[in-house]
Amino acid sequence: MTTKRSILFSVFAACLIAVSGSGTAGADDPIDVVASFSILGDMVRQVGGDRVRVTTLVGPDSDAHVYRPTPADARAVAGARLLVVNGLGFEGWIDRLTEASGYRGPVVTATAGVEPRRVADPDRGEVDPHAWQSLANARIYVRNIADGLAAIDLAGAEMYYGNAARYVKEIDAVEAHVRKAIDSLPVERRKVVTSHDAFGYLSAAYGIEFHAPVGFSTEAEASAGDVARLIRQINKEKIPAVFVENISDRRLLDQIVRETGAQIGGTLYSDALSKADGPAGTHLDMMLHNILTLVAALCDSSGSVTRGVWLVRGADASRRSPPCAADCHERCVARRKP
Ligand SMILES: [Zn+2]
Repeated sequence: MTTKRSILFSVFAACLIAVSGSGTAGADDPIDVVASFSILGDMVRQVGGDRVRVTTLVGPDSDAHVYRPTPADARAVAGARLLVVNGLGFEGWIDRLTEASGYRGPVVTATAGVEPRRVADPDRGEVDPHAWQSLANARIYVRNIADGLAAIDLAGAEMYYGNAARYVKEIDAVEAHVRKAIDSLPVERRKVVTSHDAFGYLSAAYGIEFHAPVGFSTEAEASAGDVARLIRQINKEKIPAVFVENISDRRLLDQIVRETGAQIGGTLYSDALSKADGPAGTHLDMMLHNILTLVAALCDSSGSVTRGVWLVRGADASRRSPPCAADCHERCVARRKP
């Protein structure tokens, strides 16, 4: 009921905006939307289509935890009709930025309605902001973005909800591939190390155990004790692989690799997309790339599985067929034979 009521209220508010002279946009006059970081920027583009012009503040391969907004960011926010943020404390700099820009418009918090992960250890950060790493949460992000766009552009509402419905179908297809790929791994191989604790939602949703020397934010530094403890754990539990992140310094991981039998399994995209021509140019390509990289490394540490063959950028979900997942499955079955 609350959702329905809030949509009705949003529609009412949108009518007021239209009557007050702001007007509604067409394809020739796109709506300026600012998204705080690259993953949200992609989602807003998928839902908004050509009715929106998206500016992303923290770009590809960049770290939003330690970002410093620029005067150009303040100008972009000041000129926006809608601001889309992740929330859950991810963008610690956003309130100062909106205040400095004088922005008074609506703000969509993409994680509204997400069940946040919390941990008992305050040194690691209290709430985990990396909710986009679960595809179930991505559906919530998409709904919030569609509601936010429809509220400021009533004339585009049908298109936004249509795009959102198509996008959710694509999310469903990608999630089915993700589950199938993980199912192909022996349970005892589903353990990895990354540089910061960014994959808790992925872990909870799909059953891969992640360990990290630092907590939810890259701002913290690992203590010598944390690293020593992690090295003991890797050796004791025979954790097979360590993964570099696109946004984090890899030196600590190199040290961990030197002192354990673990291998570098590849690069995972945690808090930012790759550039458009890279392997993780969209959120869904990022999820597929990460899972393929994990499965390839955990399934066969020789790395002989062909990587990236099923990352078809811009393709519809039915073409995202993962020949590698089946291949990995056979390899894993073969490994388990005596
Ligand atoms: Zn992070």
